[in-house]
Amino acid sequence: TVAAVVSSPKSRVLIVGAIGFIGQFLTEASVESGRPTYVLVRSVTTGTAGSPSKSNVIKELQDKGATILYGSISDKQLMEKILREHEIDIVISAIGGEKILDQLPLVEAIKAVGTVKRFLPSEFGHDVVRADPVEPGLRMYNEKRRVRRLIEELGVPYTYICCNSIASWPYYDNHHPSQVLPPLDHFQIYGDGTVKAYFVAGSDIGKFTMKTVDDMRAENKSVHFRPSSNYYNINELASLWENKIGRTLPRIIVTENHLLAAAAENRIPQSIVASFTHDIFIRGCQVNFTIDGPHDIEVTDLYPDEPFRSLDDCFNDFALKLNHNSTLADPITSSLFNAATCA
Ligand code: NDP
Repeated sequence: TVAAVVSSPKSRVLIVGAIGFIGQFLTEASVESGRPTYVLVRSVTTGTAGSPSKSNVIKELQDKGATILYGSISDKQLMEKILREHEIDIVISAIGGEKILDQLPLVEAIKAVGTVKRFLPSEFGHDVVRADPVEPGLRMYNEKRRVRRLIEELGVPYTYICCNSIASWPYYDNHHPSQVLPPLDHFQIYGDGTVKAYFVAGSDIGKFTMKTVDDMRAENKSVHFRPSSNYYNINELASLWENKIGRTLPRIIVTENHLLAAAAENRIPQSIVASFTHDIFIRGCQVNFTIDGPHDIEVTDLYPDEPFRSLDDCFNDFALKLNHNSTLADPITSSLFNAATCA
């Protein structure tokens, strides 16, 4: 493996969507890497930032050393001003799925300023040019594809992070993976349960993303996360969890048709999750292609000596949390909500 070519160890980073689910992992990793880290949040009274828990997250990120800036990425002039004033080298976006097109003015601002060395748009999932979910997930992918097209047309240097699934139980009917613990009553098994996927700890999404941002080998590439220690089908995932909780749970089969019907209901965001679940566990969208295109690279080829947190480890964490909360009746409504995703 060729040694990493690092343009500047102290690149100045701007993270947008920093207080969101994925954005928090990225921001923590950026601060930990020692890079001057700026985070853009919308006004404290707008969107999720208006909630007390979000104000706490902003305070925590500030305490860790991030500098908070206020504004929206859809304001191109403001973005140009911020990029210039703070001499930003790297822009990372973790805007939520419903706001993907807000990134178009940001891409134009990056182009206009001309000094940003790398842009990482809000991807952090599947390779959107290869994966082909049914609606309504397809709409989000079409928007992510449109952002990619603008980046490439304008010649903005990019890295697309295709980190696959977050390390948690993949409920098909849930709003968001941050809201879940593995089941304690029964497992829902998709199809025959044999289609594999990759499950990556949030902290590793942050850590490995930050490794790529000044690595020239990742410039204008899709970086795929396929750590072999985190490669499971849902039958194996169920057995792993049974091992941790020391008992077996009934398995209920959720058929392909059921997933398609849940997607067709077009309830947002649940139906989006159903369409992705179908794409992952029925069609095999994470594993049905080889990473051999000129713009593809595998993260474990880039950093072969850097270990990933194993899914086994992540499930140990979940089990520990359960043990500490033995009165836990309903994992979906418990106060463990925000700690539920392996970090
Ligand atoms: P969240 O919805 O948790 O957070 C999105 C953040 O973006 C919020 O903080 C929101 O701010 C901010 N935001 C939205 N619009 C603007 C704007 N115009 N200007 C500035 N900030 C804005 O997002 P997620 O973490 O769920 O999603 C991020 C990405 O990760 C998506 O591309 C998603 O598809 C992907 N993802 C991947 C997962 C996986 O398993 N691989 C799991 C979950 C997401 P505010 O608080 O003001 O609303």
